[in-house]
Amino acid sequence: MAEDVKRSSLLVIDVQNDFCPGGALEVFGGDRIVPLVNRLSGRFPNVAATQDWHPPGHVSFASTHGTEPFRTIQVDGLDQFLWPDHCIPGSRGAEFHPGLDTRSFNLILRKGSKKGLDSYSAFFENDRTTSTGLEHYLKGLGIRSVYLCGLALDVCVYYTAMDAVALGFDTHLVQDASRGVDRPEGSLDQALGRMREAGVLFTSSERLL
Ligand SMILES: [Zn+2]
Repeated sequence: MAEDVKRSSLLVIDVQNDFCPGGALEVFGGDRIVPLVNRLSGRFPNVAATQDWHPPGHVSFASTHGTEPFRTIQVDGLDQFLWPDHCIPGSRGAEFHPGLDTRSFNLILRKGSKKGLDSYSAFFENDRTTSTGLEHYLKGLGIRSVYLCGLALDVCVYYTAMDAVALGFDTHLVQDASRGVDRPEGSLDQALGRMREAGVLFTSSERLL
């Protein structure tokens, strides 16, 4: 492997049916990353995967507020961008993409399961104080570096990367094994720029495999 991935973890973010073509909140080309993620998973000493996991009536659903998706409202003083209903436990949409090889996943972490609180980052829910426990899991294993891939690049991958940097991890984005939703439009470029500024290192599956 071209880069040293000892003491590192591959974070596989939300590769679920609802974020793939045909899903409730599809990301263009979301399913195309699956073969790359599978190959990457086999190469890392640790793999932690996340699933977006929302009960019916979740705060992030436009339907909960009787309005249209893809707009921002205020809920309890927090900006909440509204999405179509997605990733409801028990639905096909919440399941991993059927082509995803989960055999090498050491941890499967489900986030956003509190009805009134959304979670984009794999480390903290959107109130920015409720930990998911991932930081302690990784640090408890002596892991210093994280490599991120998955969906959506400009939402959950982005927030996870920014938190990873802030928590002191060497943070790498495997860009070709991630895809963005770009809602609202322009958010993908903005997210990439902010990640670069924050010190996220950009890499590719080609360099890792
Ligand atoms: Zn969600």
